[in-house]
Amino acid sequence: MFLHELRQPAATLRGAGPLATAKLARIGINTIADLLIHYPRDYEDRSTLIPFASFTDDRPVLTIAEVSSHEWFGFGRMKTLKIRVRDESSEACLICFNRPFLERSLPVGSTVLVHGRFQFRYGEIQSSSFDVEKIEAGKKPEAGLLPLYPLTEGLAQGSLRRLVRSALEMYGRRVEDEIDPELAASRGLIGKAQALSAAHFPLDQDQAEAARRSLAYEELFKFQLGIALRISARKAQNLERKPSTGILARRLIERLPFELTEDQKKAIQEIGSDLDAPHPMARLLQGDVGSGKTIVALISALHAVERGEQSAIMAPTEILARQHAAVAASLVEPLGVRLAFLSGNVEDASRPSLLSALAEGRIDIVIGTHALFSRGVAYRSLSFVVIDEQHRFGVSQRTALYEKGRLPDMLMMTATPIPRSLALTLFGDLAVSTIRSVPPGRKPVVTHLARQGNESRVYEFVRKLLAEGRQAFFVYPLIGESEKSDLKGAEDMAKRLAEEIYPEFDVSLLHSRLKEERKSEIMEEFIKGKAKVLVATTVVEVGVDVPNAAVMVVEHAERFGLSALHQLRGRVGRGEYQSYCFLVYSEGLSDDAIQRLKALYSSSDGFALAEEDLKIRGPGELLGTAQSGSLRLTIADPIRDFDLLKEARTDAFALVESDQIGRAHVIPSIEGDWRLRNREGREVPET
Ligand code: ADP
Ligand code: MG
Repeated sequence: MFLHELRQPAATLRGAGPLATAKLARIGINTIADLLIHYPRDYEDRSTLIPFASFTDDRPVLTIAEVSSHEWFGFGRMKTLKIRVRDESSEACLICFNRPFLERSLPVGSTVLVHGRFQFRYGEIQSSSFDVEKIEAGKKPEAGLLPLYPLTEGLAQGSLRRLVRSALEMYGRRVEDEIDPELAASRGLIGKAQALSAAHFPLDQDQAEAARRSLAYEELFKFQLGIALRISARKAQNLERKPSTGILARRLIERLPFELTEDQKKAIQEIGSDLDAPHPMARLLQGDVGSGKTIVALISALHAVERGEQSAIMAPTEILARQHAAVAASLVEPLGVRLAFLSGNVEDASRPSLLSALAEGRIDIVIGTHALFSRGVAYRSLSFVVIDEQHRFGVSQRTALYEKGRLPDMLMMTATPIPRSLALTLFGDLAVSTIRSVPPGRKPVVTHLARQGNESRVYEFVRKLLAEGRQAFFVYPLIGESEKSDLKGAEDMAKRLAEEIYPEFDVSLLHSRLKEERKSEIMEEFIKGKAKVLVATTVVEVGVDVPNAAVMVVEHAERFGLSALHQLRGRVGRGEYQSYCFLVYSEGLSDDAIQRLKALYSSSDGFALAEEDLKIRGPGELLGTAQSGSLRLTIADPIRDFDLLKEARTDAFALVESDQIGRAHVIPSIEGDWRLRNREGREVPET
């Protein structure tokens, strides 16, 4: 098979000496295949030169210049090289952040080709995001559309280009298609060999885009195929369960002190019909903070109780798990449902009896932290698993709990709405229920932006509300004060607020360095109204309900992400009182921070904010922190390629449906072997 040739070390290529090979290894290129799929991040159009004096925002500089001097500015680790260059039109500066090595590779007097976006700054034409390449005396630079690769120190675009060219010449034409050519043609895509070559050395932008699309489709197709197979493996399970009567659920609903919202009812119904289906459920329940997801989960758990099976509800923090357990106990214990709470801190004395009750099936619903899946915890018949605030758990933690049961139904909950465009990628194998509306009667939180320096006005406003009996959160980005900056920390501010600002009120402090037990105590006291002000870090971000808390003050708000701020704001406005959120920001905001604060000021819709966040941060960052362990897209962009993604999904699902992919197989490919799980459901991982 030809692939073993592609798996040879890159060193076997002509022109790849030991030095170059070592540098390639540093950016993850070890084999010839790695080299072929090291795609350009951009192209440089060498057909028209644009000198320094003629750049605009949408016309980057492309010019031949001479290095006139090297200078350094900044100190210590911040020390930065500045290279002055001159072309026939003007002088310009290259600010070489993290590229000190350019001092040696571009000596004064050398001729260089410079490409990049420039700006007028401090009276100079400068750039910190440029590509530069030394032109050897007497040599003419290459012409046409040239690839710009991600590089590493000491590896020049020119040498990487030569290596890729020779890899393409020797092997490129023989790379086989992995997508059925008929299918590819029907989607207007080009073959793999052609796409590879055109992705590196396209004739023009159109060809570059056609190549990128084809490669992106292939990547998305494989990804969706994995999802389609997992779904089909799940559907192939036959659970033979009898439909539930729903009697317990109805009795609970009758006991509720409120009417369920339409969206809640719909979610309950969607989950209910999954739970009656003959195969396990995998569903995501998304709904903004305060939309009432917990009760939906609890009502759904009663299906399992009715069947004599067990449910586990897992929350990311002990405080939250305790609160869920307390609420649940008051609602379901009167129905005869046996409920338990389990965390790492459940006292040694009661633990053994609790564990044996779980193992023997004398507990119907257990609510707790990650202790729910720790070793030594066994269930008699775990059939319904709820993961609250699912993004706070890793894939392995979610799977660990899942594996305590025998093909249990799985409900994941999130208060960070997933933009539609990302949902198919991140949660492609989950069905989704959405609660869009919040319960009636809630007054929207009034948001104010305040500049640092004016925070005393905020403190005075808060004082009035405290005097009326309300409670307030104050959130800071750090626990202690930081040495390097003058950011306020929670510890110091707790002291200041207690002693100087609100000496008449009780102030307490909550942060992640405290012991779990201590945290629970503090939170419980706050819930009971003992402390009036709770100073905290983002530990309060997660779902705790304090109806009397009517103020959220976030200082250095620019330090927090959009979704974190939205979550923080969601901590208030859960009771009958008009609530307020103050976002105190400091000087020198970045453009992104301004956009984030503006977005929060003008919208309280978590879905709109999630889309906005995606626009500001781009999918990379969201995907980077994302839940999905197995998602590694190298060329496709789930946002930009959303239409392509939908096509790939349709095609992949059709292929699985048509039954042409039988058993598990491993498909060797230039990107590395990809394993398809078999339809019998062995080895079915989560996304
Ligand atoms: P989240 O979706 O953020 O997890 P919770 O489940 O914690 O929200 O619910 C927030 C609060 O709203 C809780 O106090 C809950 O009892 C209350 N609640 C839930 N559903 C309703 C409803 N339909 N009407 C009024 N209050 C509700
Ligand atoms: Mg919640």
